Amino acid sequence: MLEKFLQEVISLVAGVNAEPVVEVLFKKKNVNEFLIAKKLNVTINQARNILYKLADVGLVYFMRKKDTKSGGWYIYFWTLDDKKCLSYYVDRLNKEVDQLEDSLNNKKTKQFYFCKTCGMEVTEEQALLYEFTCSECGEVFALKDSTDSIRQVEKEISKLKIKSAEVKKVFEEFEASAAVKIKKAAMVSKKKTSAKNKSKKKSTAKKKSGAKKNKSLPKKRKR
Ligand SMILES: [Zn+2]
Repeated sequence: MLEKFLQEVISLVAGVNAEPVVEVLFKKKNVNEFLIAKKLNVTINQARNILYKLADVGLVYFMRKKDTKSGGWYIYFWTLDDKKCLSYYVDRLNKEVDQLEDSLNNKKTKQFYFCKTCGMEVTEEQALLYEFTCSECGEVFALKDSTDSIRQVEKEISKLKIKSAEVKKVFEEFEASAAVKIKKAAMVSKKKTSAKNKSKKKSTAKKKSGAKKNKSLPKKRKR
């Protein structure tokens, strides 16, 4: 699910051609841009264009290294920001829902007119202005029945809302698992430091107890 949503948001931002970026970067870090270009089957400049577009909204980020072999040019290494991708996707879906709800509200509260001959559509105010005749062909405007298009927009809204909820769920799961990872890492480093402290104590104890046991000390200390 995560990978699918990542593909969707990447293609939303940078076009369908950018979708394979996910395959190349998923679960990896600092991927060489030349490798990305090769995998996408595009030139390095095309690959960079895609990556910059994605970086603009924070979906990927880079580190760069000077390439001493090629006269000091920089090579960029890219990483996909899963968390940012998901939150951006949710925002974007919600914005789309807002826009559609506005348009739905318009359709429900306002009347629209259209020309049967050339299909031109106008608001009631515009129709009044033109005295209910088409400015293109002179045909009298007909009142538009918005029932179908209202139903269509309503369908689209509920689809987007479901999607947004799904992506949000994956986002929350992602955050929860990231929190667990941080906790685990903290515990491990705590254990390590306490183990270090113990071994420090041991080694000082050794020093104190055995001046004669010099031979058993690590080689470093001999020098
Ligand atoms: Zn007309």
